[in-house]
Amino acid sequence: MPTPKLSGTEVEPNISHPQWAHEALGDLVISKDALRERVEELGELITTEYRGRPPLLVGVLKGASFFMSDLARVIKLPIEMDFMAVASYGSATRSSGVVRIVKDLDVDLTERHVVVVEDIVDSGLTLAYLQRYLQARKPASVEVCALLVKQGQQRAPLELKYVGFTIPAQFVVGYGLDVDEKYRNLNGIWCLKNKADQ
Ligand code: 5GP
Repeated sequence: MPTPKLSGTEVEPNISHPQWAHEALGDLVISKDALRERVEELGELITTEYRGRPPLLVGVLKGASFFMSDLARVIKLPIEMDFMAVASYGSATRSSGVVRIVKDLDVDLTERHVVVVEDIVDSGLTLAYLQRYLQARKPASVEVCALLVKQGQQRAPLELKYVGFTIPAQFVVGYGLDVDEKYRNLNGIWCLKNKADQ
């Protein structure tokens, strides 16, 4: 008789590609364990720094959705959450900095302590636009918590209070980040396979 499978108990190796995404992925950039550890650290920092003034987390859809939900669960304060969706007028891979708000916030920001939760900062133009947009709504403060920052790519002066990881300037997918809407549901963050290796 085959051994019964206990759902949820399979150990998934971190470093080998999940079989279903094998064709698309290159090297692992950040493992799921490293993500979990760093998100916990960021949660502890935010818990300490916002004690007595629980922030409103503003997640930027869709890329920050996984990060936002994990981060929210390790902050030990009565935070609130809201989401925005933006579309950049740039090409698919390069942001122009001109941003269209596709979904606006539902809550009033007046006198709120806002933490913008972003997946990845590349040129920084999207975030610079969002910061200006949010500041205009008279919050008590606006800080940024970005999971990833691409090294040496920023074209706008940005103050990033919380950063998960600095990564080389390469296109990555997983943990919310997509290519053509796919691979958001990978547990870790990966480079795409080099065209030359395919
Ligand atoms: P920025 O305005 O900073 O140049 O671009 C920020 C946005 O571009 C991110 O929120 C994300 O949607 C997208 N982006 C930038 N780099 C990457 C990447 O390496 N992978 C993916 N999937 N999206 C990226």
